[in-house]
Amino acid sequence: MSASVSTDPDLILLIISSPSGAGKTTLTHRLLQEFPELRFSVSHTTRRPRANEVDGQDYHFIDEQTFEQLVDEGSFAEWAEVHGNLYGTSVTEIDRARADGKHGVLFDVDYQGARQIKEKFPEAVGVFILPPSMNELRRRLDSRGSDDAESRRKRFQKAREEIEHYPFFDYMIVNDELQQALAELRGIVLAEGCRQWRVAAKAEALLER
Ligand code: ADP
Ligand code: 5GP
Repeated sequence: MSASVSTDPDLILLIISSPSGAGKTTLTHRLLQEFPELRFSVSHTTRRPRANEVDGQDYHFIDEQTFEQLVDEGSFAEWAEVHGNLYGTSVTEIDRARADGKHGVLFDVDYQGARQIKEKFPEAVGVFILPPSMNELRRRLDSRGSDDAESRRKRFQKAREEIEHYPFFDYMIVNDELQQALAELRGIVLAEGCRQWRVAAKAEALLER
């Protein structure tokens, strides 16, 4: 039996990472519309909200002092500095999903966060989203219109470093044509729900009859 049998078969932990601008927020929002049984893990961040972002929905926007206090109190399952801002996942995110009767939690975190989540929950599934090309990544960062030039430059410069971490992930999706990328992401979620260890109890129940 694998070690993950002791984990919750009814809760998929889905980590989605990518270089900034590759399209993970777009894909994540579409996936959540299709799968209401998935819950988005709302991170805490010291980054300023973008014009279209809602506090408590996209992120919990907090200042550095509050963030550091939460770190000291052990409130984060993982946290990291990304593009000069602090980001962290609260330990209560998974409990909340269970309490809400959800069957999955979706973590939008960078590779450092992905590693920390996997260390704590080895059954978590890591998906890395790639842009079709670096030129297209730059175009998407510029066209999003939500970050200033300095912030876009930093994000583009970090893209290479982030892509270098791809071998850590279980799945990779090239987000070229959005519908195709979404179909692949949907396929991953459906397949993960069919893992033998998740469905094993149903087989055992049949065998007991
Ligand atoms: P991330 O969350 O990875 O930083 P976003 O989801 O914000 O990236 O996407 C960055 C920009 O690229 C947005 O303007 C979004 O509308 C656009 N975008 C996302 N996916 C595609 C795609 N497949 N084709 C063209 N544009 C896309
Ligand atoms: P953005 O500022 O564009 O929303 O996110 C910047 C980066 O921070 C992205 O790579 C995103 O995945 C990552 N990120 C968002 N929330 C968290 C978090 O809670 N923890 C970690 N480690 N990274 C996060």
